[in-house]
Amino acid sequence: MTSQTANQKGHPRGLYLLFITEMWERFSYYGMRALFMLYMTQALLFDKEFSSEIYGSYTGLVYLTPLLGGYIADRYWGNRRSILWGALMMAVGQFLMFLSACYFHEVFLAKWLMFAGLGTLILGNGFFKPNISIMVGDLYEPGDKRKDSAFTIFYMGVNVGATIAPLWCGLVGNTGHPEDFKWGFLSACIGMLIGAAVFQFYKDKYLVTPDGKPVGNPPKQKPVQASEQIRSKRLFWTMGIATVILASLFAIGGADWIGAFIYATIITVPLSILADSSLTRQERKQICIIFILAFFVIFFWAAYEQAGASLTFFADEQTDRWIGGWEMPASYFQSFGAVFIVLLAPVFAAIWSFLGRHRLEPVSPRKQAIGLFLLSLGYLLIAFGVKGVEPGVKVSMLWLTGLYFLHTMGELCLAPIGLSLVYRLSPARFSSLLMGVWYLSTSAANKLAGLLSSYYPENGVVKNFLGYEVATLYDFFMLFVAMSACAAVVLFVLSKKISKMMGEG
Ligand code: GLN
Repeated sequence: MTSQTANQKGHPRGLYLLFITEMWERFSYYGMRALFMLYMTQALLFDKEFSSEIYGSYTGLVYLTPLLGGYIADRYWGNRRSILWGALMMAVGQFLMFLSACYFHEVFLAKWLMFAGLGTLILGNGFFKPNISIMVGDLYEPGDKRKDSAFTIFYMGVNVGATIAPLWCGLVGNTGHPEDFKWGFLSACIGMLIGAAVFQFYKDKYLVTPDGKPVGNPPKQKPVQASEQIRSKRLFWTMGIATVILASLFAIGGADWIGAFIYATIITVPLSILADSSLTRQERKQICIIFILAFFVIFFWAAYEQAGASLTFFADEQTDRWIGGWEMPASYFQSFGAVFIVLLAPVFAAIWSFLGRHRLEPVSPRKQAIGLFLLSLGYLLIAFGVKGVEPGVKVSMLWLTGLYFLHTMGELCLAPIGLSLVYRLSPARFSSLLMGVWYLSTSAANKLAGLLSSYYPENGVVKNFLGYEVATLYDFFMLFVAMSACAAVVLFVLSKKISKMMGEG
């Protein structure tokens, strides 16, 4: 059975159901995200600094709650139920955003409706995101070579949604009339409902293992001994208290509260997972590998997520965006990455499958090191493009296009492979929680990205980052070159050892 399915070329239908569901969810997420800053600054008339703070906290928290959603799925609900509830919560969140935008003239009411909406979205994403990602792996036999390419196809679904969303929601919501934002948010709500309906309709038919057993149902409860219950309660409280103490220390050290909480969680949650007494030595080793890789991934996303921050300023102020007689809006650059993914994902999925069949596939951590290296190369390209250019002089948009192209290739080496790895290395009873830990690195990276973006040079002021002076755009981009190249080299060197530990190399 195993060898028969492992040799199949196509993919199970369930993969396409997860593809479509995730596509609509990401449509909803990115559609709202494309309008969010504009809504705050143009309709609610918040200033840029306050809006950026809210935006940063939202994108940070959205990737923190997968820990909770993963935990609840593993222990009580299973993936299917968590996905459905997450989707419905997100639809309610988008509807609250719609209501907020309907009453934007009454700023007090609109603001609180928006906060309620954001809270619901944060919670909903926590239930949805880790659980849908982990289900992809459940459709295959253990050891099936098609998994990396399956996660790559799934990742394409993420990006089809991310490509269409800003275009559609921008078209109906960002018209220059603040009263139209509501149509963008309503579209995001409808998109999420479509995703939820498709999932609910077809899940029983298609979400099955190769031998036809349903996947994603609640775990079979084993009778838990009283002593174990006491131990896990004690662990829970110790973790909670340690998180609060650490977060307070970070806050005293100058971090904002949400950042402090996220940074503290990165330390306490992995430690308390490792302290679980039910883990075998091998399982503990595999979980450590997930944590090591998650650590490297923080550097990737912190540099990559400049797309929504400093790279958009760069597109706006320093890039010549004229094509014939039309000046392309700076925000369009944000869909470049997603468009490249949609174009390149099938190529990468085919490359992994091909190399896999010929036993030439690089080990997974090495693929991720290549991803970091490509990211570094993207920044090197643009650093070269702006070297010696006077402030205010605009450079060709080919530089930024080249950067996004390289970044996208890097993302395809790193992100879907990461999902596949987490699936493979997690003990089944903790898999969704560990996917939550994986997304925790995105949460930390989003916070870090905001911090790094504030080093964007302006008015000739020299800024100092850990002893490195940033005075020009060249210095700024070289900071990212150095950061991602260092991470790439270290991971590359470690990759053989890591893959041996995983039993891959
Ligand atoms: N573009 C990816 C998504 O939205 C990013 C996820 C991540 O891990 N940073 O799913």
